[in-house]
Amino acid sequence: MVFTVATRTLQYVPALSKLTIEAHKKDVPQLMHLVILSGDGIGPEISAATCEVLELLNRRLSLGLTFESHEIGLARLKSEKTTFPPAVAEACRRADGIVLGPVSHATYPSRAEGGINVSGELRITLDLYANIRPSRSREGLPHWGRTPMDLIIVRENTEGFYADRNMYWGVGEFMPTPDMALAVRKITAASSRRIAQAGFELAKTRRKKVTAVHKANVMKVTDALFLREVRSVAKHFPDIAYEEQLVDSMAALLVRDAARFDVVVTTNMFGDILSDEAAELSGSLGLAGSINAGDTHCMAQAQHGSAPDIAGQDKANPASLILSAGMLLDWLSRKHADTRFAEAAKLIDESLDALLKDESRRTADLGGKLGTKAFTKALSDEIAKRAR
Ligand code: ATP
Repeated sequence: MVFTVATRTLQYVPALSKLTIEAHKKDVPQLMHLVILSGDGIGPEISAATCEVLELLNRRLSLGLTFESHEIGLARLKSEKTTFPPAVAEACRRADGIVLGPVSHATYPSRAEGGINVSGELRITLDLYANIRPSRSREGLPHWGRTPMDLIIVRENTEGFYADRNMYWGVGEFMPTPDMALAVRKITAASSRRIAQAGFELAKTRRKKVTAVHKANVMKVTDALFLREVRSVAKHFPDIAYEEQLVDSMAALLVRDAARFDVVVTTNMFGDILSDEAAELSGSLGLAGSINAGDTHCMAQAQHGSAPDIAGQDKANPASLILSAGMLLDWLSRKHADTRFAEAAKLIDESLDALLKDESRRTADLGGKLGTKAFTKALSDEIAKRAR
């Protein structure tokens, strides 16, 4: 398939026949094909930075990564009357992994006019049900909560209050009269069960504690169902400590004592809000990486939005998307039992730790003076030093 739409093709690799792929497997490490979607606002700047780091790791560690870039969002809407053409969606489906820059979907026109929220669309169509959002304070870097933190919010990604994706047909918000607006929240046993399972599995590899966050004292039907399923999964993990927190008290506890949390499992909207809070408390939203993972696909995506207020000014911190790409590499490492990808992810994390200890090598959101490009160069130098 030919992608005439690619705006920045790093290393174009035509579709390989199954035979060619098998032949490659015998001789060289298997190829991993990544699709890069740069997005809106600060998206192009932080995607370019992420590609730079991935290309460096690819060269140094011989990862066998191949890249294919596509323009999406507002730029694409102008040229092709859609923010997300079907050929790009198909490229994502075929890829081993996706890196998605932030999208300004709130400013898109209706779907009928071509405004497809690429983030929501990919989460649903590829069934990326688990949004994994870590927040970790880093040595030498100020954190804004009262305690240091190292937690992961495991957010259900396919239902809840998200009106654009919680219906088979139609949308989950509507207006019976001009002065009345209603919203529907969808919670299912199956989705609650699988997000809980993802959270407990993750906790096994960490400090072995899961906190379920809910509002079952008010949402007595939907959150009761969510908790019923999480509790039932908890029974299969006797070695994992389990507790529950109301979402309002969780918001306060993140400020007061985030150190007590390890893995936090919650529904879509609560997870979205709490993860922004946790990321900012840990240092900055600019450090907030995440992946959207399913059983077969995975997409790296920064936790924050497209930050139009600083777009095009070389001010954005690209660490969020670079860390997200690192998480994707880690996911690939587990999926394909290939430790080189985990090694690459570790290199990103450790190099970032080293960089951020030094005040003169931080971006503006962290009180520093470096712009996006200079920060990316400093991080690349740090990675190159360690990857020798
Ligand atoms: P959107 O409408 O796409 O959600 P937004 O600006 O409303 O965009 P965010 O993008 O999440 O929401 O940004 C919230 C604040 O954090 C903004 O002031 C933005 O400039 C800042 N911010 C977000 N991401 C970064 C980043 N990577 N580096 C520096 N500042 C950032």
